Amino acid sequence: MSAPYFELNESQDNELFLPLPGPFFNILFWYNKISWKLASREFNRLMKKKIFENIYHLLLKTYGPQGWWPLIQCRQKNAVKNGPLRGYHENDYTYPKNSLQQFEIAIGAVATQNTSWIQAEKAMMNLHDLNLLTPNELSRIDLARLGSALKPAGYFNQKAKKMKILAEFWLKLARRVPERNEWLKLWGIGPETADSILLYAFRKPVFVVDAYTKRLFSRLRIFRESLSYDDVQNIFENNLESSYKIYQEYHALIVEHAKRHCKKKPVCQGCVLKRYCRPICHAE
Ligand code: SF4
Repeated sequence: MSAPYFELNESQDNELFLPLPGPFFNILFWYNKISWKLASREFNRLMKKKIFENIYHLLLKTYGPQGWWPLIQCRQKNAVKNGPLRGYHENDYTYPKNSLQQFEIAIGAVATQNTSWIQAEKAMMNLHDLNLLTPNELSRIDLARLGSALKPAGYFNQKAKKMKILAEFWLKLARRVPERNEWLKLWGIGPETADSILLYAFRKPVFVVDAYTKRLFSRLRIFRESLSYDDVQNIFENNLESSYKIYQEYHALIVEHAKRHCKKKPVCQGCVLKRYCRPICHAE
């Protein structure tokens, strides 16, 4: 397994870091009273945290609070997002408000596997219209009928099977909050889906890593795209305050930025992170 690394070159470091006043560094040095090397290690540790914080604040300033995870009952609150479901709740971290909304998020996390949220929410609206967004109804529905409702999200037969397994698991929980390893034992639930459910349905501070996260941060040369899911998750969790609100926003902001600018073929014109990324920006 490759070790996580931070290989920003010096000029990038200086741009990304918020400048710390000289006296701060001296105080840090004397406080440590050990060696310059240890003090500078501490300095680097603080700086790495700053990188993650700075990117977060820049994205937040640019796109605003994202209001994820969208829920059907919050329809039409966000004029900027325009899928069939909408349901965003910016600056309101009190969602989900009940177990049915928690279940909706868990089902949504399966629906959006390997597809865009726009397609997933069409499938979610079909489930809603058929009154299938409850664990009881979903566990009872015929597999073929469920698959047909899920067609807009793709891989519909697999997703139908996964959702029925999830619904049966949910019924056995009897409102207990399941551990991450319990989710991972379910067929078709990988780390990204399990963490999305824990973060957005149960408000657990676990950072969700996806392809967008790896693409963006490797382009910024903060870590390699080939790092494992767990390594990337550890980097974020070690460099950010352990807060489900920050993790919810950060993940949603990365997705927004990747959809608007840091696409497979990046659209670097107008990207707020461009000045940190210039050496590897391939679009211009
Ligand atoms: S400058 Fe281009 S490659 Fe770099 S983060 Fe922005 S969109 Fe992505």
